[in-house]
Amino acid sequence: SNSPATHESYLVVGGCGFLGRHIVEQLLGRGETQVSVFDIVQRHFDNNVTFYIGDLSKPEDVDNALNKSKATVVIHTASPAHGLGRAIYEKVNVDGTRTLLDAVVESSSTVRKLVYTSTGGVIYSGKEDMVNADERLDYPAVPLDAYNETKVAAEKMVLRSNGEGDLLTCAIRPVGIFGPGDRQMINGFYSVIKNGQTKWQIGDNTNLGDFTYVGNVAHAHLLAADKLGTTYPYSSLRDPISSIDISLG
Ligand code: NAD
Repeated sequence: SNSPATHESYLVVGGCGFLGRHIVEQLLGRGETQVSVFDIVQRHFDNNVTFYIGDLSKPEDVDNALNKSKATVVIHTASPAHGLGRAIYEKVNVDGTRTLLDAVVESSSTVRKLVYTSTGGVIYSGKEDMVNADERLDYPAVPLDAYNETKVAAEKMVLRSNGEGDLLTCAIRPVGIFGPGDRQMINGFYSVIKNGQTKWQIGDNTNLGDFTYVGNVAHAHLLAADKLGTTYPYSSLRDPISSIDISLG
């Protein structure tokens, strides 16, 4: 169910992507009137949205979008897809996220809240099973791959920026996202069927992996933005790490 409109000015970075587009549609759906998108390509054409086409790793492109949109809330979902080379991840996830953060902590910036789309992969080493893992778990010493390594770097920068000036930040860690507009997962499912590989089972069927519907992931981003700045009694989240059960595979 939709939360009420806040009438903030939203800039969805990566807003022409799969998740980004759902975030844009949910913002419009709850009656937000100031919704802008920053993306390197324009895949949607929409009269209710202002599109700023540019590269996240170029300060002049980012400044242009922030200045013109007068964004107060930034939702940063941009990333190259999983499975590419290291250089593009360094450029977009690390340099790009740094460029964005540098711009939003400027004293002249209108941005007060930033929500970052991280990934569950930031705490996964690939070496051990994870059961009921949550945000108390530390990053693994050796990241899974270049994609996840740069998502860790970006997430750390985002979380460190919380409280700089009057900026509030948080990061959300979805795992596999499915739903209309998906540009990655469905290709894999399709090729498994096309290649007759449905008889294969990986593992002994005791491990669970989560997929989340894209609408729910988008909704989580709206709620995170709405609630950033709300003070909760945090004590229960500061329980010692030993309360997490990590069983070795
Ligand atoms: P997507 O590729 O559909 O969307 C990403 C968007 O970022 C694209 O529109 C792309 O054009 C844009 N982008 C890429 N480089 C850019 C740059 N240099 N400057 C500006 N824009 C740029 O991917 P998605 O599946 O919607 O993923 C969104 C976010 O969710 C990503 O941060 C990804 O790491 C994260 N995530 C996705 C999944 C999943 O299963 N899809 C799982 C966990 C985390």
